[in-house]
Amino acid sequence: MINGKQFVDRIDALQNEVWIEGKRCLDVLSKSAPFKGIIASKAELYDYQCCKAQQELFCCTAHDGRKYGFSYHQPQTVEDLINRRKATQSWARLNGGLIGRPPDYMNTLLMTLGTASSHFSKGERPFGENLKALYELAKSEDLSITHTFVNPQVNRSISHYLDDKTITAAKVIEENKDGIVVHGAKLLATQGGLTDELLVLPSGQIVDESFIFGFMIPSNTKGLRFLCRESYRYRDSSFDHPLAARFEEVDSLVVFDHVLIPWDRVILYKDLQVLNDLDAETGMYAFLQYQAVCRQIVKLEFLLGLGEAMCDAIQISEFEHVKLKMTEIIVSLEIMKALLLSSEVNSELNQHGTLVPDSKPLRTANNYFANTYPRLIEITQLLGASSMISLPTEEDFASQIKGDLGQYLQGANIGAMERVKLFRVAWDLGMSAFGSRQTQFERFFFGDPIRLSTAFYNSYPKQPYHDMVQNFLDNDKK
Ligand SMILES: Cc1cc2nc3c(=O)[nH]c(=O)nc-3n(C[C@H](O)[C@H](O)[C@H](O)COP(=O)(O)OP(=O)(O)OC[C@H]3O[C@@H](n4cnc5c(N)ncnc54)[C@H](O)[C@@H]3O)c2cc1C
Repeated sequence: MINGKQFVDRIDALQNEVWIEGKRCLDVLSKSAPFKGIIASKAELYDYQCCKAQQELFCCTAHDGRKYGFSYHQPQTVEDLINRRKATQSWARLNGGLIGRPPDYMNTLLMTLGTASSHFSKGERPFGENLKALYELAKSEDLSITHTFVNPQVNRSISHYLDDKTITAAKVIEENKDGIVVHGAKLLATQGGLTDELLVLPSGQIVDESFIFGFMIPSNTKGLRFLCRESYRYRDSSFDHPLAARFEEVDSLVVFDHVLIPWDRVILYKDLQVLNDLDAETGMYAFLQYQAVCRQIVKLEFLLGLGEAMCDAIQISEFEHVKLKMTEIIVSLEIMKALLLSSEVNSELNQHGTLVPDSKPLRTANNYFANTYPRLIEITQLLGASSMISLPTEEDFASQIKGDLGQYLQGANIGAMERVKLFRVAWDLGMSAFGSRQTQFERFFFGDPIRLSTAFYNSYPKQPYHDMVQNFLDNDKK
C-alpha cells in the first residue's frame, strides 16, 4: 500500500497531457491551482490507509505475505463485505463523501474483473491472462485508476449512425502486431489525468466490432489527452471555498489521438458475447453500486450534521416544517443504510468465488438517491435562506468592515466568522459551481437515471407477484 507522498510523486512524475483553461498544464500537477486540492485530499486517504491504527481495516495479506489495500481484496464472506463497507466509509468520512471517485471505486471494478479473468478468455482471443496480470499489477503497486466508458454526446438520436469519416466516439482504427490503435474520444473522466492509469470499457452505442474494446493504460500513454473543464476551485482559501478548495475533482473529455494499446493491455476486443455477459459474470455493477451506496450514506450523514448545525446557528428547529425537512434527510439516510444491509444479507457467491452483494436493493438505492439528493440539497437551500447569500470572504473579516460583520452576521449562539464559515459549507454544497456539479454528479454518475430505471424494471423478477394476484383471482372463482 502506498502513502500520500508516494501517490503524489508518482502522479507528478507521469507528466500526463492535461489541458485546462486554454493551456497544457506544464506545472507539477500537485502544485497546480486547479488540481492541488484533490491531489492533497487523495494523498490524505493514502496516508490514512498506512496509519498503524487502520491496518486491520485497510490492509490485506496475500498468500505470499505481500500486503495490499482492502479494495483489491476479493470478498468471499459476509465479514469481508462488512470490512469493505467499513473501510470505504471511513475513507469517505475524511471528506464527507464528497470525493466521488476515491481510489476504491475503480480498484473495486478491477477486483471484479480480475477475479473473473477466465470470462475474458472465452472469446476468439483470450485476454484473461492480461486481466490477471493487470489486476496483480494494480494490487501490488496500489495504482490509482480512473475510467471513461460513454461516447461523446454529439447526437443521441437513435437514427444517428456513427460513420467512419467523422470519428467522434473512440474506436479501433487499426490492428497490428503490437496492439490496437484507438482514435476518437470518450465523453468524460472524472479526475482524468490525475491518476496512474485509465480504464476503458464500452458503454452505449455500438455500431460494429470496432467499438467493442476494453483496456487499461498508463495516463501518460502517447496520444492520450485529457481536456479538462474549467476548474471550480477558484481560490486556495478553505474558508471561502471550504469544499471546492479541497475536493474539486475536475472532469475531462478524453481524447485518443491514434493511441496504440499494446496487446498485453487489452482486456476485451470485438467479442460482443463477452461484453454482454460482463456484469452477470463479474458482478461489477453490484460492486460499483455497493461502493457508491457506502459513500452516499456518508454524504447523507454529512448533510444531516450540516442541517442540524444550521438549525442551531439561527435557532430554527422549533418550527414544525423545519423538523419535517430534517426528517426527510433522516429518512433518506435510514433507507440507504437499510438497502445496503439488505444487499449484504442477500449476497451470493458467484462462479468465481466472489461474494456479490444483492444488486436489487443496490439498484433501488441508486435509483432512489439520484432522485432524492437534489431534493435534500433544496432542503439545505430552504433552511439556509439568506444565510446562503450573506457570505463575506476571509479577506472581508480581516478588513476594516470586520466590526460590522461581527455585529450583524453573528448567529444565535456563535460568532459571525464561525457562522459564515458554517454557511459557506452549505453554499459550497448546494449553490456554488462545485455544489451544482455535485448534484449533477449524483444524478448521472451511474448513467442516465431514466434508462437505469427502465433497465431495472425490465430485469426485476416481477412474475411471482403477478402470479400472486393471479392465484388470488383464481381462488375467488372456486
Ligand atoms: C459530473 C459527472 C461526472 C462524470 N464522470 C464520469 C466518469 O468519470 N467516467 C465516465 O465514464 N462517465 C462519467 N460521467 C458520464 C455519465 O456516465 C453520463 O453523464 C451518463 O451516463 C449520461 O450520459 P450522457 O451525459 O451522455 O447523457 P445522454 O445519454 O446524452 O442523455 C441526455 C438526455 O437525453 C435523454 N436520452 C438520451 N438517450 C436516450 C435514450 N436512448 N432513451 C431515453 N432517453 C434518452 C436522457 O434521459 C437525458 O435526459 C460523468 C457525468 C457527470 C455529469
